[in-house]
Amino acid sequence: MARSTRNVYLLLFIAIFIIMSLILYSSIDSPSSMRRADKNAEVLRLQQKMSSLEENLRRNGEEMDRLRKELRESERLRKELEKKEIGEIFAQVPEPRGGGNKAEVVRRFLSKTTKPARDVCPMRKEMSVPNSEIQMFDMYNLIDFANTDGGVWKQGWEVKYDAEAVKTEPQLEVIVVPHSHCDPGWLRTFEEYFDAQTKLILDGMATHLPQQDQMSFIYAEVSFFELWWRGLDEPTREKVKGLLSSGRLELVTGGWVMADEANTHYNAIIAELMEGHEWIKNHLPKEALPRVHWSIDPFGISPTVPYIMSAANITRAAIQRVHYSVKKELAKQRNLEFVWRQMWDSSKATDVRTHMFPFYSYDIPHTCGPDPKVCCQFDFRRLSGGGFAGCPWGIAPQLINEDNVATRAALIYDQYRKKAQLYKTNAVLIPLGDDFRYDTTFEWKQQYENFQKLFAYMNGQKEWNVKARFGTLSDYFSVLEKHTVEQKIDLPVLSGDFFTYADRDDHYWSGYFTSRPFYKQLDRVLQHYLRSAEIVFSLSHMSGGDSGPASEESFERLVRARRALALFQHHDGVTGTGKDHVVKDYGQKMLDALRDCEEVITVATEVLLQKKGSAAGQLQLDESRSAHDALPERRAAEVGSSLILFNALSTVRHEVACVRVADAKARLCFDTSIAPLSLQTYSVVSEASSTDDGERATVAGTARVESNDFKSASLPSGNVVLKNDRITAEFDAGTGMLESVTPVGASTATKTHMKFVKYGARGHKRMNNGGGDDLSGAYLFLPDGDAKDVPSGDSHYVVVQGPLVSRVYVQGPQEFRLLTTYSLDAGAPYVEITNEIDITERMQNVEVAMKIESSVDSADSIYTDLNGMQMIRRRRQLDRLPLQAHYYPMPGAAFVESAEERLSLMGAQALGVASLKPGELEVMLERRLLQDDGRGLQQGVMDNLRTVSHFRLMVERMGGERSAEDERMGFLSLPATSASRSLHYPWVKILSEDSDLSPSFIGLQAPLPCDTHIVTLRTIAEPTKYGSARPTTAPSSSAALVLYRPLVDCRSTTPAADECADSKGEDSFSVLFGAGLKSASTATLTMLYESKGTTERLAVEPQQLMAYKLRF
Ligand SMILES: [Zn+2]
Repeated sequence: MARSTRNVYLLLFIAIFIIMSLILYSSIDSPSSMRRADKNAEVLRLQQKMSSLEENLRRNGEEMDRLRKELRESERLRKELEKKEIGEIFAQVPEPRGGGNKAEVVRRFLSKTTKPARDVCPMRKEMSVPNSEIQMFDMYNLIDFANTDGGVWKQGWEVKYDAEAVKTEPQLEVIVVPHSHCDPGWLRTFEEYFDAQTKLILDGMATHLPQQDQMSFIYAEVSFFELWWRGLDEPTREKVKGLLSSGRLELVTGGWVMADEANTHYNAIIAELMEGHEWIKNHLPKEALPRVHWSIDPFGISPTVPYIMSAANITRAAIQRVHYSVKKELAKQRNLEFVWRQMWDSSKATDVRTHMFPFYSYDIPHTCGPDPKVCCQFDFRRLSGGGFAGCPWGIAPQLINEDNVATRAALIYDQYRKKAQLYKTNAVLIPLGDDFRYDTTFEWKQQYENFQKLFAYMNGQKEWNVKARFGTLSDYFSVLEKHTVEQKIDLPVLSGDFFTYADRDDHYWSGYFTSRPFYKQLDRVLQHYLRSAEIVFSLSHMSGGDSGPASEESFERLVRARRALALFQHHDGVTGTGKDHVVKDYGQKMLDALRDCEEVITVATEVLLQKKGSAAGQLQLDESRSAHDALPERRAAEVGSSLILFNALSTVRHEVACVRVADAKARLCFDTSIAPLSLQTYSVVSEASSTDDGERATVAGTARVESNDFKSASLPSGNVVLKNDRITAEFDAGTGMLESVTPVGASTATKTHMKFVKYGARGHKRMNNGGGDDLSGAYLFLPDGDAKDVPSGDSHYVVVQGPLVSRVYVQGPQEFRLLTTYSLDAGAPYVEITNEIDITERMQNVEVAMKIESSVDSADSIYTDLNGMQMIRRRRQLDRLPLQAHYYPMPGAAFVESAEERLSLMGAQALGVASLKPGELEVMLERRLLQDDGRGLQQGVMDNLRTVSHFRLMVERMGGERSAEDERMGFLSLPATSASRSLHYPWVKILSEDSDLSPSFIGLQAPLPCDTHIVTLRTIAEPTKYGSARPTTAPSSSAALVLYRPLVDCRSTTPAADECADSKGEDSFSVLFGAGLKSASTATLTMLYESKGTTERLAVEPQQLMAYKLRF
């Protein structure tokens, strides 16, 4: 870069920096008005604490009495209770038709009320080693990954069966399941797809299904179903309800979308599932409640999803996109059907009976049997007149008639038989559909009539010993279960996950872990504001102060925001694999949703802080966005106005908060502590009127920085060392980049050298089997070799040091206009890392990663999270698998560890992660690919934006016993868990021109234990009124309370926050929520089923998701 340009750039940088620079006050609460407000708050808090303690005492006494009584009644009572519970719950669960899951619900309800809490620390040892026959971690050591040509079944082998022997086997039962996979956004937007295709599909279903009395149909995406429902007349709705009640139409999963499983956070998966289930429960008959899960297109499959399903009482699943070598290995042992058990589970509580598709795709050529050339001939949409041109394998389908039915039936029967050879029973599932199928009368008619002829012929051939028919997914599982019982077949138990997916050759789908990172970040921002909006809305609704039209309008906004977040969880949404205009459409929907959340939060805040009389609309969030593709800006607080902080956590939050102050060109930071789910008001006063001077920060940089707003200093001669009360961090004197971290009390530093690296895309390459020469694109990561260092070149940095906050701003490699900010806040046991990156102007294929080279001796293992819910161990084997296979989803966290120390990185967005050498963590930040990668998108990824990513890096010394060699999962420590939560759910900062607000509102009267997290407190919707021009949805007077309590690794010597130390947690609902709460009862995760009796106490086991229905 020419010198003159460089100087201009430097000046610009400094100018920007000055605007961003900080004046750091030790505390904002010095002015008298503030002190009064705070004292009032303090008195209020103490009063509340007192009454809560008194209440505790009273309840403890009562509790003791109750326990004594229970002990006396002992076994007899327990048995009676069980019987009663079973009776109550059975009354609510529909009769099993297909995969009825009555037993599971009952078992889970009972386990909730009988298990005692116990010390969690020793549990890591027994929980981290799965209690199962097939462990995916080990399977990766067994598979040869040879990719040999298997003949017609390219990725398998020649399947055979004994035509004589099958005559005496149990009858082959074939369930053909018509389906239509409808993406709520991909090549078209959600609405475009609905208008052009999905409406026709659902209309066709309502027309043809009643006429075709042997036909069945399954459907997954409730987002489309709801949109369609709006336009139906009442007789059609009744007809559809009839089809659902009769079981010929089945809603599978029942989520708003078929969620991506790599980049989604469990909070958002639960939100999208709840949105779908709530709608179904409110508008459809009982028999329509989903009982089976269907995940055929997500690009890699996570065990978090079946766990969430099992918590919602869905315990049967069908999955498709799994690495072809894994499928082959499972198929060899006939293990494609298994009981999927969570890695930590030694009981059976999380079991989900799972069917894995054996072949390449879910389309018709790859689902009837191993030979796509044959199966394609039984896709009758491809008959002439259907609008599709024959089959790619060269042989077109034939209309079935009397002359050909014998040979045609024999042909497909042979495929069914061969497919059945890959499974343990003689039940066989044959999906019959594809993307956006059944959109024409032609297809409904031809698929139905031709298959009916084939079935009739086939079922009439006694020596074939087969019964084939149309059915739903539940029908299939019923047949499967009948076979397993009759033939005494036990399905194997499997634990682990199915990442990273490859569909052929070395084509690993690890690019979409990072594609469109701007929107992956926005997704989490929306998740945070939506969750906060849910909580404050529910609290204000519960308080009774919020009713009438204002509340209903707020609720409408909340529902819109829920649906925007839910829609984006689709496997072409958060994955970053939609067309450019579709990405923009999702972005706009999320921006609108953010604005809706802002409105809900500010209105509810006004109610909760009992704002008196003045006009609404004066409250706003401190964060604003001018457009969906712009980074946020911070609104400034005016002197004389109020700042309100909301603590969205279920624990006491003691943290530094910073706010921009008008005219000061500076940020004001202060240390504060707020009760769980509570609001606290502060007054912003001028420095002049303050009795207590704030302290200003000291600033030093590679170029001299001077301003009246802070004290200037020179850089030290060696490395820059920053400290807080928990850690010391060292930064390179030349580049300003992080070099090492030392936790307090440790004698040596842990090296954490940070840099940036880049990959290009490899050129066309011929694969062994002649195919597979795609290039990197939205889905695939196919690098051109090892990463190359991005030269730090003209780096400049500035160090800001204050009593509460210290920061290093690094203007990094200009090739990608990198700006890295390191922050050390008082009390934080981590270094916060923020990267801004911009590769919009590059015209080459490039992917840029942040790399941390540490001295942690982690050998070949890395632990990465699955949906922010659990940590799974992965092993590096670069000698057997290519680099791109070593990239994994990092929706929340990753760590490497030795016996003595651990390096954890918590992220606030989903990105891809790898550990390619011992001690290393490498996170892909951004990617620009100029070409399509042959997976249907038909474009590259070139709509890059200036993008931000947030991380927290933590170094911990580990005491106690080393993790076992056979450990298959890991657990974050409590401080790391807390750091991840507070990163995801930071302070909500609300600015108010008004100073006439209550000093505080306490949402949760006592903190929950630090490991327990309120996932959501979500007001349940009344059924939507569809009559008028615009459908309206009102809030009910109950809410879903969802809790998650991950097991934490207790070996970390980093202490948990002080607030955790003496908190035993308060687990009585009436104490937690106060007088507003009428009753609570246990419920399945998405509120489809609830126990009739009420419950007084809240109890969550480690690694358990719990849901309660609260009435107020
Ligand atoms: Zn799809």
